[in-house]
Amino acid sequence: MQKYETVIGLEIHAELCTKSKLFCHCAYTFGAAANDCTCPVCLGMPGTLPVINKRAVEFAVRAGLAMDCDITSHSKFDRKNYFYPDLPKNYQISQYDMPLCQNGQVTFDFNGERRTVTLRRIHLEEDTGKSVHAEITGDATRSFMDFNRAGVPLLELVSEPEIHSPEEAVAYCRAVKEILEYIGVSDCNMEEGSLRCEPNLSLRPMGSQELGTRTEIKNKNSFQELLDAMQYEVQRQTRILDTGGEVVQETLLFDASTGKTAAMRGKEEADDYRYFPEPDLVHVQIDADWLDELQPMLPELPAARRERFIADYGISTENAEFLTATRPLADFYDEAARLSGEPTACANWIMGDISRLLNAAEIDIPDAKVTPAHLSELIQLINDATISGKIAKTVLDDAFETGKMPKEIVKEKGLSQITDTSEIEAIVMQVVEEHPGPAQDYRDGKKKAIGFLVGQVMRATRGKANPQLVNQILTRVLSGE
Ligand code: ADP
Ligand code: MG
Ligand code: ZN
Repeated sequence: MQKYETVIGLEIHAELCTKSKLFCHCAYTFGAAANDCTCPVCLGMPGTLPVINKRAVEFAVRAGLAMDCDITSHSKFDRKNYFYPDLPKNYQISQYDMPLCQNGQVTFDFNGERRTVTLRRIHLEEDTGKSVHAEITGDATRSFMDFNRAGVPLLELVSEPEIHSPEEAVAYCRAVKEILEYIGVSDCNMEEGSLRCEPNLSLRPMGSQELGTRTEIKNKNSFQELLDAMQYEVQRQTRILDTGGEVVQETLLFDASTGKTAAMRGKEEADDYRYFPEPDLVHVQIDADWLDELQPMLPELPAARRERFIADYGISTENAEFLTATRPLADFYDEAARLSGEPTACANWIMGDISRLLNAAEIDIPDAKVTPAHLSELIQLINDATISGKIAKTVLDDAFETGKMPKEIVKEKGLSQITDTSEIEAIVMQVVEEHPGPAQDYRDGKKKAIGFLVGQVMRATRGKANPQLVNQILTRVLSGE
């Protein structure tokens, strides 16, 4: 039996993809030249004043609605004070005791079970800048500041400590990521830091209801790293408790190269931040009318979409999960299935050949030249026996490359199947004549020998003969009928 129960709660930060920052007009582009996306407001110059970006509030509310939160009617911003080079004002405008959204839920499937995790709160805050450590001529390393990211709206989603394994925590983060992407409030690009998942993790004796002392783990930029970090931390805390030690509440940094966590700083308490209401901003009032407007604008969410795909299109749970992983992929599948009336074939093509082509080209589905209309037409061409499944693959390759419609490609390249019986018969006779060995083997009862002969006929027709017809005719010719 397991000795300890793992307890995990997560703080997830997501950068909102609003056109401008939270309190100024600057637009932020990842990868822009250092300090290009800044102005006196986001540089924290004395005398400047913040003005709230309404769209950022709307995005936060949208996330709250999508995650079943209570949306507050009255909210405010607070100053969180701390000194760090990447924080131009020496305080961060955040929300302390009056977050925009509270008491939500995130539901997801984990190990074949439906799980629901409570969201304690969702609030808005501004992102910080970045320190850049660069080696300059000579061998001195200097630190520079890039404030492009400073003031970008950040959503913080805080869960209750209700998660009980590193794997479940990753499943929860994936669910949150999917929802944020579906509702279009964040691109959730982990490599670029638009989505950052910080787990708080503690252990307690099995059966105990009290929470153990937790550590917080910083700076994950992939789900794999997040998982490795938590698994390492479970082992580390187990060793401490097993040897009678005490876990110290602190913030740890996980180093992917060593696979270990290291202490970064002692954990601050709220008092250390000297929170107080931001005097430069007015309070935020959220009308019921506005909520009534926003609610119906939410798209179908990933969980609902998965269920509909399974119920309406008859595909498996695993396939539905694959096909709803991103909204553009799910939109593509939905439309292709509707257009073609062939949901199973569409699923197979998308998960097989289309995914292969996308991976090879290193692009995502919205950037592909192949559309649901292409896929639908391709499937019709197979269904009405114009082309074989094998030829269809080459047609798809071509369509992927050029964007041409499958019918056009088939016509241009003369790829239609030969369904003319006499034409196939002539080729069959020739092949049998050229390969007397296998033909005799077949007549002697080695029925498998027909496979070779079918292959030869297909080759002679460059794959264009209808394989079923070839089989029929070969059988007839070989049995001397
Ligand atoms: P802080 O404000 O100091 O970061 P919170 O109490 O707001 O701390 O909690 C932050 C996150 O840590 C939440 O997601 C919460 O669920 C989680 N958490 C709090 N206590 C524990 C614990 N003992 N074990 C695991 N997670 C915890
Ligand atoms: Mg915190
Ligand atoms: Zn600015």
